[in-house]
Amino acid sequence: TTATLPRKDDPADLAEGIRAGNRAALARAITLVESRKAEHRDKARRLIQELLPLTGTAQRIGITGVPGVGKSTTIDTFGSNLTDEGHKVAVLAVDPSSTRTGGSILGDKTRMARLAVDRNAFIRPSPSAGTLGGVAEKTRETMLLCEAAGFDVILVETVGIGQSETTVANMVDFFLVLMLPGAGDELQGIKKGVLEIADMIAVNKADGEGAMRAQSAASDYRAALHILAPKSPNWTPPVVTISGLANEGLDTVWQQIGLHKERMSASGEWQSRRSEQQVAWMYDLLQQRMMEALKKGPRTAGRLKDLEHDVRAGRTAVSVAVEELADLVGV
Ligand code: GDP
Repeated sequence: TTATLPRKDDPADLAEGIRAGNRAALARAITLVESRKAEHRDKARRLIQELLPLTGTAQRIGITGVPGVGKSTTIDTFGSNLTDEGHKVAVLAVDPSSTRTGGSILGDKTRMARLAVDRNAFIRPSPSAGTLGGVAEKTRETMLLCEAAGFDVILVETVGIGQSETTVANMVDFFLVLMLPGAGDELQGIKKGVLEIADMIAVNKADGEGAMRAQSAASDYRAALHILAPKSPNWTPPVVTISGLANEGLDTVWQQIGLHKERMSASGEWQSRRSEQQVAWMYDLLQQRMMEALKKGPRTAGRLKDLEHDVRAGRTAVSVAVEELADLVGV
């Protein structure tokens, strides 16, 4: 009966639905979290706070790679392997360009045909929340909601637009970078930054005619990683070859993710990495809120625009403009 249906966005009702593993409640909660309306933001905060004790238990895995590398194919296969083993898998996406295009291709259900109909999987496209910071904030909160709903593996997909790879690496426990087969020349085009944040590199499409080239690319990446300072003293990022299409090597990927967790937990780095992520998230959010307040504040908004104008025209020095605004805010 309608009397037992949860009120649409009541935090307590949503929390109860999520705890019970109700997918409709989860979807509604995510919509609430993604909303920009002030009254929704307040409810979303209460919801997250209430569910917080149920979060933090999932394996959080970031997956990146250029368009066409095989992210959706690999996630579909990898995720299905995991649900076959009894895991519950959520796929989220961070795509800052979704705000320009009005829609995200990442996390599109049609790209992951098996997972889309898998009762133990949940796919959510990227929120269109303006800046990368906004998208990331909502994805972090959605991740917590999924964990509270019992998803024990969270896959966060992104493409390397701007800072999005670093942003995702900073919200997960393990960052997997997919690469295309092909050696030498192609390696030159790879951003060094992505190798620095990788916990593992998987050269995809190592099947058929691609197999040899994938091996050769893998040796090149091993050599490239060798000359970089390791991200962690407790982990050397392995380089493997896989085929997302033929479901080859994905068992190794999962084993390595498990081994990584074991080593990082034993050394204490697992927990310290998560704690640092929480604190960094707090400062991120704080920074966003402070900027928003500055842009909307009755005393600062107009002056900010004027000063922006003057700085653009070269009439006012940047440091002078910043000092005046800081004075206005009282800092
Ligand atoms: P995405 O843009 O990174 O999500 O890449 P897709 O998963 O959409 O894959 C791009 C193309 O590569 C598609 O035509 C896939 O069928 C193909 N592809 C993906 N993975 C593999 C693989 O392991 N082997 C081969 N041969 N093709 C693949």
